[in-house]
Amino acid sequence: VTLIDGRAIAKSIQEAVGADVAALRAAGTTPTLAIVVPTDDEATAWYVRSIARTAAKAGIDVRQIDLHEASAEELTAQLDALSADPAMHGIICQTPLPKGVTLEQVGQHIAVGKDIDGANPESLGRLASGLPAFAPATAQAVVEILRREEVPLVGAHVVVVGRSNVVGKPAALLLLAEHATVTICHSRTRDLAERTREGDVVVAAVGRARLLGAAYVKPGAVVIDVGTNPTEDGQLVGDVDTAAVEPVARAITPVPGGVGPVTTALLLRNTVAAATPQS
Ligand code: NAP
Repeated sequence: VTLIDGRAIAKSIQEAVGADVAALRAAGTTPTLAIVVPTDDEATAWYVRSIARTAAKAGIDVRQIDLHEASAEELTAQLDALSADPAMHGIICQTPLPKGVTLEQVGQHIAVGKDIDGANPESLGRLASGLPAFAPATAQAVVEILRREEVPLVGAHVVVVGRSNVVGKPAALLLLAEHATVTICHSRTRDLAERTREGDVVVAAVGRARLLGAAYVKPGAVVIDVGTNPTEDGQLVGDVDTAAVEPVARAITPVPGGVGPVTTALLLRNTVAAATPQS
């Protein structure tokens, strides 16, 4: 089995981003990413610090806006202001959101051209229609990893487990655009293991620690594990039981060190794309 090195893929993306940033800066534009943080959640703070550190290395400015305990109105007003601010190129809004507020609601206040993590429902609609738009970076990371590992997608059967607007659904749309035959599974799917065992590629985006064991994977399949589930002893594990699947799969992404770092690198690549004048 090949353990796919997400950190190495991320590094190579970051190097390319760094070169693009240097060119933009030389032409007088400082690519700037706004991160709205509506929570004091510790895991979110850790993730934001990691994005900010990686952005700084690539020469991208980060403006962090802490809005702990903000109302929905304050949050959407802030996103409207950032959307109108020509100095801001990319905008992301972290979760968890205030009680009763959905990502789809706040996402509508992120201008589509700055929506580098595909939170605006309009971005997802454009993606579904084949129009230019940013897909959520995690969904992009799934396809980026498969491309870099030279996994054939044209005509291949890819089984995606999960249908959220942030991962499963956009990942399925991107894979469809690569001409894969895509099956989408979810919590009501009957005989999940039978479905996933049909996949040349299995994408797990469920949020259930080690749900997919050896019986869920066809021998020689490629497994992309999007899940990040904290365990009681403070570890992070995926949706795939890696130790059980390793003898069966051809290649698998580890957690941590797989999809996560590639996602962060793609947020930065998207920021640079948003800052680049369209000719
Ligand atoms: P989500 O919104 O909770 O969606 C989970 C999906 O899994 C739903 O579609 C749900 O089905 C389905 N599901 C739940 N239990 C199932 C089961 N037993 N069998 C089959 N399907 C089941 O989660 P998400 O935001 O998509 O995130 C998924 C995972 O990815 C989480 O672990 C999250 O932490 C991780 N994640 C990682 C990154 C990264 O950069 N690495 C980024 C984002 C998310 P229903 O639709 O029927 O409820």
